[in-house]
Amino acid sequence: MAPQPHPERGRGCAGFVDAFALTATDGAARAGVLSTAHGELRTPAFMPVGTKATVKSVDPAELRDLGAEILLGNTYHLHFRPGTETIAELGGLHAFMGWDGPILTDSGGFQVFSLRHTILGLDDDGVTFRSVYDGDSARLTPDLAARAQAELGSDIAMCLDVCAPADASRAELEEAARLTTRWAERQREAERAPGQLLFGIAQGGTDPELRSRSIEEVAALGFDGYALGGLAIGESREQMFETTAWATELLPERRPRYFMGIGDPEGILEVIARGIDMFDCVLPTRNARTGTALSWEGGRLNLRNARFARDPAPLDENCACPACTRFSRAYLRHLVNQQELLGHRLLTLHNLRFVLDLVAGARTAIERGELQSYKDAALARLQAAPEVPN
Ligand SMILES: [Zn+2]
Repeated sequence: MAPQPHPERGRGCAGFVDAFALTATDGAARAGVLSTAHGELRTPAFMPVGTKATVKSVDPAELRDLGAEILLGNTYHLHFRPGTETIAELGGLHAFMGWDGPILTDSGGFQVFSLRHTILGLDDDGVTFRSVYDGDSARLTPDLAARAQAELGSDIAMCLDVCAPADASRAELEEAARLTTRWAERQREAERAPGQLLFGIAQGGTDPELRSRSIEEVAALGFDGYALGGLAIGESREQMFETTAWATELLPERRPRYFMGIGDPEGILEVIARGIDMFDCVLPTRNARTGTALSWEGGRLNLRNARFARDPAPLDENCACPACTRFSRAYLRHLVNQQELLGHRLLTLHNLRFVLDLVAGARTAIERGELQSYKDAALARLQAAPEVPN
């Protein structure tokens, strides 16, 4: 059974400026505006992932043209290369990468815990691990996660959390949630960049008792926004969506909610419908590298398929991205098959535009109270079998 909303939900957050305004709701879904030190972003918002201070192959000016309003940076990678101190010296991450809009940085924790074989020790104060760059021993604590993100100067910093694997025992999940709360307490008191918002993260997997306890503990500390961590890591889609539905009910209503790590079109629509405001995923950019274009024609097109060899049509007649307005499927297929850089770049631009358009459409639908019909129509097209099998 799904847990009931905590009676004190919505409390906390004392001392923080109200950065988030809800502008419309439609069922559980919400539209809003989040104000940051580098401008506003409209929610629901998809955040393209700029792992190493770049969304692979895309110029920040192009990201702006595609409709991106916020980017995500990975603290783990930037800590090791080139180093957050170096980036601070060069004016912070915005100046360094040439993007003047909002940036959210993760804490580095997800990389550490997803590279489990590199973990050397986990204790109440932090985690010790081997760097994937040089194998040297490194340490990550709530204070260090705060300092690194302060040096990067991101607009939204994330708390360091412990993400247990999907097959974790209940005891492991419980310990991960306990440490996540303990570290959130510490990081809440640590230094920040001027105007930097800080989001707390709830863990607990899909276990109703552990997840709701984690939400209650982290929400009681009071953060500018809240993330659901430890989902989309291997549990079933049904479990993931069900957990999202009741977990969002438990979160403070007037704070943005971030689902960490979902970016497939169907998944995005499902979590928006369940009250999520922000999400990120490498899928649109990773798909591009394998020659896969997101498409309304059954969800995905594999451009390596021979059926595109003489196809003069654009990838998508209604898409305004450079790949669709200027080139044919046959040309894109040729580029992909020859592993030309331009092929990767054009598919990346298209896939990002596809997801950003999908989310912008969902936002408009929420404002009109029409999300259900928008979602039903979108899912029907995305899940339809293509005319010729890939
Ligand atoms: Zn396109």
